Amino acid sequence: MKDISLYIHIPFCKSKCLYCDFLSYSGKEVYIDDYIKALINEIVAFKTDKQVKSVFIGGGTPSVIDSRYIEVIMNTVFKNYSIADDAEITIEANPGTVDYNSLKTYRLCGINRISFGLQAWQDRLLNVIGRIHSSADFVAGFEVARRAGFDNINCDLMFSLPYQSAEDFFETVRNVTDMQPEHISAYSLIVEEGTPLCNMYEKGALPEIDEDEDRRMYWGAVEMLAERGYEQYEISNFAKDGRQCRHNLVYWRRGDYKGFGLGAASLIDEVRLKNTENLSEYIGGKCVTEREALTVADRQEEFMFLGLRCNSGISEEDFYRKFNAAVDDVYAEEIKKLVSDGLISRKNGRICLTKRGFDLANMVFVEFIQQ
Ligand code: SF4
Repeated sequence: MKDISLYIHIPFCKSKCLYCDFLSYSGKEVYIDDYIKALINEIVAFKTDKQVKSVFIGGGTPSVIDSRYIEVIMNTVFKNYSIADDAEITIEANPGTVDYNSLKTYRLCGINRISFGLQAWQDRLLNVIGRIHSSADFVAGFEVARRAGFDNINCDLMFSLPYQSAEDFFETVRNVTDMQPEHISAYSLIVEEGTPLCNMYEKGALPEIDEDEDRRMYWGAVEMLAERGYEQYEISNFAKDGRQCRHNLVYWRRGDYKGFGLGAASLIDEVRLKNTENLSEYIGGKCVTEREALTVADRQEEFMFLGLRCNSGISEEDFYRKFNAAVDDVYAEEIKKLVSDGLISRKNGRICLTKRGFDLANMVFVEFIQQ
């Protein structure tokens, strides 16, 4: 039986972080009830005979809505699909939005992994980027999650924040790893057009980001995390042995996934689908608004640039098996150039980013776009 993963989007947040351009709202709590009804309808309407190997409830901040809604969602998922016994089922939560009862409810309805958005340890930095929690909230939430039975916890961190020194970031990594989460994600801040943070940068109200300092933070953290037992398996993701996020690996390996909720994306049998981003349309029952059957070229491009994100890179044999063509039949020139520029390496039937390739990953990825 083929596998599928499910993503469930909860687009509500307590307040909007200054850097955020995700599809999420604050101040729209009045729509939560109708949104969940529409979500349940969408889950019930989707039929598949594939077995579900992972579920990810993301957002937004899924933990801001009443945990009874999460229970209803999970009951609907279990009732409508065949869920693998060892399925990884994650919920995203922000510090300050969970308590023992909500976490216990999550556990009881089958959720076995929690992902906390900490971002930084220093409250002054959390304040600069508009996060509304403190690191003390994170510590409290983490400890309660352990007590409620979560033995698989991720922490999201960010670096290159305004006013953040490398030492601030290393202190964050040190303090978080001291707490022994099973998984850590570390992303460089991207200043997205149209966000309040972007406006502040444009007005010169924040110090410019230093590219060299960004790389110093990244590689310093990679080294610290390795020393502390976290193996890097993707550009921004680190895990203890066997604790890689299976749901994210499905994205990078181009497995099938179905997204439910506002703006959610799906990839099913090589067709990409996208739900409406309009909240009233979604509540009114409209779901998929975009549908694109991927060409062989699309699939080859994605295979390369998604696969190269992972430290294990891509397997030439897998490429051949999927496309009935050698990787050199399609990308000989590009591979030759990237190898000679020191951006990728090729050995034992695998192609991987080099250290320099990690720093210039986007430059590498565009080489695989076919004209
Ligand atoms: S909590 Fe996450 S989704 Fe919500 S505003 Fe902040 S960054 Fe965006």
